[in-house]
Amino acid sequence: MELKDLKERLFYEPRFAWDVMSEKEREEAFLVADEYKRFLDSAKTEREAVSFIEEAAKKNNVPFVKAFRSKVIALAKPGKEDISKGIRLIISHIDAPRLDLKQRPVYEKWDMSFFKTHYYGGIKKYQWLARPLAIHGRIVKEDGSTLDIRIGEDEDDPVFTVLDLLPHLARKEQYEKKLSEAIEAEKMNILIGALPIGDKETKDRFKLAILKKLNEEYGIIEEDLISAEIEVVPAGRARDVGFDRSLVGAYGQDDRICAFSALKAILDCKDNQKTAVALFVDKEEIGSDGATGAKAKLLEMFLCDIIKSVGGRPSVSEIYSILPKSKAISADVNGALDPDYEDLHEKQNAARLGYGVCVTKFTGRGGKYEANDADAEYVGWIRRLFNRNNVVWQTGELGKVDEGGGGTVAKFVAQYGVEIVDCGPAILSMHSPFEISHKADLYMTYKGYKVFFESSD
Ligand code: MN
Ligand code: MN
Repeated sequence: MELKDLKERLFYEPRFAWDVMSEKEREEAFLVADEYKRFLDSAKTEREAVSFIEEAAKKNNVPFVKAFRSKVIALAKPGKEDISKGIRLIISHIDAPRLDLKQRPVYEKWDMSFFKTHYYGGIKKYQWLARPLAIHGRIVKEDGSTLDIRIGEDEDDPVFTVLDLLPHLARKEQYEKKLSEAIEAEKMNILIGALPIGDKETKDRFKLAILKKLNEEYGIIEEDLISAEIEVVPAGRARDVGFDRSLVGAYGQDDRICAFSALKAILDCKDNQKTAVALFVDKEEIGSDGATGAKAKLLEMFLCDIIKSVGGRPSVSEIYSILPKSKAISADVNGALDPDYEDLHEKQNAARLGYGVCVTKFTGRGGKYEANDADAEYVGWIRRLFNRNNVVWQTGELGKVDEGGGGTVAKFVAQYGVEIVDCGPAILSMHSPFEISHKADLYMTYKGYKVFFESSD
């Protein structure tokens, strides 16, 4: 008996969140998940996410709301303490893997019309074949006017699809190849129609029929598609998964589960001492380059605006004095241990579904290359914060050493000397068209982010 107590005192055991949640918290977790599903349905692209976040922030009177190029947005709530003492930052990303249309997408072949695509981010190509797809995006016309489209989400909308080969003919073309090579990117074309215009003598009559339809409905011509960003995403709504409805299944949960949690946390946080900042960025899935990615000087830019908004006059020296005094969470997901592929995980250090928000000290790949690798002091601070506020948390490493890996935006924020660690839920089927999250993890992520914003030490 004594040894049992000793073990309990000395061993670290992660806790299954549901076991330690009160009845009230369990109910709240399901309500938060309903809210989350509405966010997922309205925000399938980075632009849609920015619109949603902007609207929610304004409705809730968040003092500082600023979008940048419709793809990045920052929210801030000034704290009781002066901003010069440092901020609390949560940075998440709102882009997700998908198929983008090429700039000259339309063609016809064998009496059918198609859009050509170029995939965005890390996808497993076979997951995108033979499933209903929706088209979201922005078209900029020659006169400078813009048009936003969203087709395939309403029940009466048509959907689109990438064809797959019938099994009867797939033996050599697909089965004998490596999975990573069996589907060619240039064959991932979207079927968009099969009715012609005119008669057999009319040249390009299927393509012409599509362009006529697009012109009638949207007033666009083929050249308009060159100045467009059109994203093809899985059609349909986020769903509860399981007889017990314990899980959420949806496209884009990496990283909208963190974006949603950060949004809800900043809306709900009260009496924050430090200035709370939630930053939502684009382009994480393709390396964070570009003006709307985390490698751009977004943090300085927004910080200047935030300082101005509270009547200050930002200077370079002030910015570089604030940031090293600041604490940040890189809000991104981890891969949960998958029972069917358990051998790819090092089980003692793998994140598990349902075990609360996951604090990931380092990401990167073999030998911690390209990792932020948060310091012990900061992990200690987060651990203390979560423990003392009953946030169920775990630690996680993405797969066995040398098995693979991945990165987040943490290292780009760390460049400013900000203390930052990766922290978000672990999900299953990551980067697939139907990612799986646990409602208890969503709740603990939200709760963890909220106490982070409210922390004062
Ligand atoms: Mn991510
Ligand atoms: Mn990702």
